[in-house]
Amino acid sequence: TFEVISKHGDHEQVVFCNDPNVGLKAIIAIHNTALGPALGGTRMWNYKNEDEALVDVLRLSKGMTYKAAASGLNLGGGKAVIIGDPKTQKSEGLFRAFGQFVNSLNGKYITAEDVGTNVQDMEHIYMETPWVTGIPKDFGGSGDPSPYTAHGVLMGIKASAKEKFGTDSLKGMRIAIQGLGNVGSNLAKYLQAEGAEMTVADIDMARTKKVAETYGAKAVSSEEILFTDCDILAPCALGAIVNDQTITKFKTKVIAGGANNVLAEARHGDQLRELGILYAPDYVINAGGLMNVFVELEGYSPDRAFEKTKRVYDNILKVYEIAKRDNIGTHTAADRLAEERIKTIGRLKQRH
Ligand code: NAD
Repeated sequence: TFEVISKHGDHEQVVFCNDPNVGLKAIIAIHNTALGPALGGTRMWNYKNEDEALVDVLRLSKGMTYKAAASGLNLGGGKAVIIGDPKTQKSEGLFRAFGQFVNSLNGKYITAEDVGTNVQDMEHIYMETPWVTGIPKDFGGSGDPSPYTAHGVLMGIKASAKEKFGTDSLKGMRIAIQGLGNVGSNLAKYLQAEGAEMTVADIDMARTKKVAETYGAKAVSSEEILFTDCDILAPCALGAIVNDQTITKFKTKVIAGGANNVLAEARHGDQLRELGILYAPDYVINAGGLMNVFVELEGYSPDRAFEKTKRVYDNILKVYEIAKRDNIGTHTAADRLAEERIKTIGRLKQRH
C-alpha cells in the first residue's frame, strides 16, 4: 500500500474504515494539510475492488490539494470513498458509522457531498460529527453550490477574455455553452446579463429549448456545440472534451467552463497552447463551489460566498502570468501556482 501511495502523491495519511455491522468499507485519504484542514467530498461508488477505490481516493484527494491551493483558500486536500452501490446499499447506520470515523480525525479531514452522496447522507454524517459541509440551509449550511460555481466560471471567462481579447466586457462576445445542467444554466443566466451572444446545447433537447428561450440564446444540437464558431467555448457537461478526436476541430479562441477534467490527457493542454487556444484550467475556474463551502466553515453568509467567487478572476490571471513567465501550458501553470503557494505559505504556517 505504501508503494501505491507514493506512486499517487505521497499522502500524509490514509484511513481504512471498517464496520461490518452496517456494511461500511470506506477509505479516507488526506493528501496534504500544509495550508489547512483537508477538505473534499465523500464519493460512494460500486468499485470493482479495493485497489480501484484506493487509487481513486488517492488521485481525487491530491486534486483537492491543488484546487484549494490555487484558489487561495486555507485548506488542504482530502477525499473519501465508500465502497458500495449508492442505489441499494445506503442506510442511516452506514453514514453515521462513517461520520464517526470522520469525527475521529478531529477536523483534520472535512467532508462534503460528491458523486453518489446527497444532502440527506450529509445530514446523517452531521449527526456524528461537525466536520461536514454541504449540509442543508436549515442547519446553517450553504445549500446548492452550483450558482457559486457558475459565478466563478463567469469571472474566469471574463479574465480569459481580458487575456485573449484585451477586454473583460462580454458584450457581443460569442460564447458557446455545452451542458445546461446546474452549472450551465446558471452560467447562461449570468452571460445574458453581460450581453453575450450565446449558443447553447444539452443532450436533453427540451432543456436546450427552455434555456435558449429563457436567456435569449441560439439552440444547436449536442453534436455541433463543441465545434461552433465562437470566441469562447464553455464546457459544462462531462470531462475529456479535449481529446485526440476533437482537438483539431475547435473553432474557438478560448476554452473556459465549469466541467471537471476537461483535458483527456495533459498533453492535450500543450497541444491547445500550440494551436493558440487559451485554456482556463478546470480546477481553477470551477472552484466557486469550493469557495462557497469554505465560507460555511467561517459561519455561512451567501453574500460573502458570492464575493469570494469573484477571486476566480485574479486566480485565472495569475495562471496566465505563470504560463507566460515559464513558457508553459496553462494546465501546467495552474499546478505550479498551487505548488508555489503550498511552498511559501505552507512554510509560513509551520512557524506558528
Ligand atoms: P448536471 O448533471 O446538473 O449537468 C450536466 C448537464 O450536461 C446535463 O444537463 C446533461 O444532460 C448535459 N450533458 C451531458 N453530456 C452532454 C453532451 N455530450 N452534450 C451536451 N450536454 C451534455 O451537472 P452540473 O452540476 O451542472 O456540473 C457540470 C460539470 O461541472 C461537471 O463536469 C461537474 O463535475 C462540474 N462541476 C460542478 C460543480 C457544481 O457546483 N455543481 C462544481 C465544480 C465542477
